[in-house]
Amino acid sequence: MSDDPVDGATQCVNAHIGDDPAWKAVIPPLYLSSTYRFTGLDQMGTYDYGRSGNPNRDALADTLAQLEGGAGAVVTASGMAAIDLVLNLLRAGELVIAPHDGYGGTRRLLESRQQQGRLRVHFIDQGNADAVTRAMAAQPSLVLIETPSNPLMRLTDIAALAKTARQAGALVVCDNTFLSPARQRPLALGADLVVHSTTKFLNGHSDVIGGAVIANSEGLAEKLRWWANCTGVTGAPFDSYQTLRGLRTLYARMDVQERNAQTLAAFLARHPLVRQVHYPGLPDDPGHALSQRQQSGPGALLSFELKGNRETVRAFVGATRLFTLAESLGGTETLICHPASMTHRAMNAAAQRQAGIGETLLRLSVGLENTADLLGELNRLFAALQ
Ligand SMILES: *Cc1c(COP(=O)(O)O)cnc(C)c1O
Repeated sequence: MSDDPVDGATQCVNAHIGDDPAWKAVIPPLYLSSTYRFTGLDQMGTYDYGRSGNPNRDALADTLAQLEGGAGAVVTASGMAAIDLVLNLLRAGELVIAPHDGYGGTRRLLESRQQQGRLRVHFIDQGNADAVTRAMAAQPSLVLIETPSNPLMRLTDIAALAKTARQAGALVVCDNTFLSPARQRPLALGADLVVHSTTKFLNGHSDVIGGAVIANSEGLAEKLRWWANCTGVTGAPFDSYQTLRGLRTLYARMDVQERNAQTLAAFLARHPLVRQVHYPGLPDDPGHALSQRQQSGPGALLSFELKGNRETVRAFVGATRLFTLAESLGGTETLICHPASMTHRAMNAAAQRQAGIGETLLRLSVGLENTADLLGELNRLFAALQ
């Protein structure tokens, strides 16, 4: 293979094709063995034990490191395990700055670690310059960024926040789950680490739970590998095999899913029964200009508010035939989700109101279906409200 720069789509398709050392299989085979033979005393091969290293996990890790432009990566058992792995880089009592509208599981993890006295955490509105200035004055050790946010698709300027955070001496971590490296590359914008729930777009088929951390330096990658082996949070071989299989089509999936999302967002924005659409691909969305600077496309997630109340939402989702009412995102199938009663139900009504999550807000993870069929489904759902 040459060292010429290759596009991400090609890297995905070509990752580890034909490099099987045993039988020259075109697709890297699945290695389930938990242990590896030493050829003699003091003669260990590349692998010795499956928690420490595995060919399938390594193939996925270095493909993800390439795609994100990192020096190395660690593949974990879930997205939450990836975030918890990063927290091992902190000493007891150090301060984490996290977004007030971040993923609920991340918030629960950080709050629980704080209650145990392991770390301190401030949740702030990262789009508010005064809040960011105050947060940096408190000398954080780690700043976590999540953009676009869930479910309101608010964007955070990664380059600007990473610069301020670095000046304050903090490590900058970006959760890139919602866009994937096919649409956003946070390391190039100044982040030190990228975390993923590979459960979502990277695997892309809603059939594996997994995660990854990608580091911008070999030093950080090595520390993370050490902790992942020490605590045993590394991903399973079969999950890594499946995820690399899903990853091969990431760019093609993202192109079609994003095109469908753009069409649905434009349709919803014109609909008289819709109060508001949140999608950075719409020209009048507050995140539009920033999305054009830091993303290579608006992605395949959108949310919208229906006019009406909880009963309107019940009638709307009750009429679905093509969309599936479910949490999660990033699969080939279109999922519809009601954040107030599903993904964000752990927040009380006041917290939901403060975060801007209304009772008629719905989120779509737009899939690969035929565009006219998706529009037909929306027409049917609105007809159910008449
Ligand atoms: C799903 C998700 C996670 C958690 O990942 P799991 O694989 O479910 O553990 C973290 N961050 C974001 C943004 C997510 O969407």
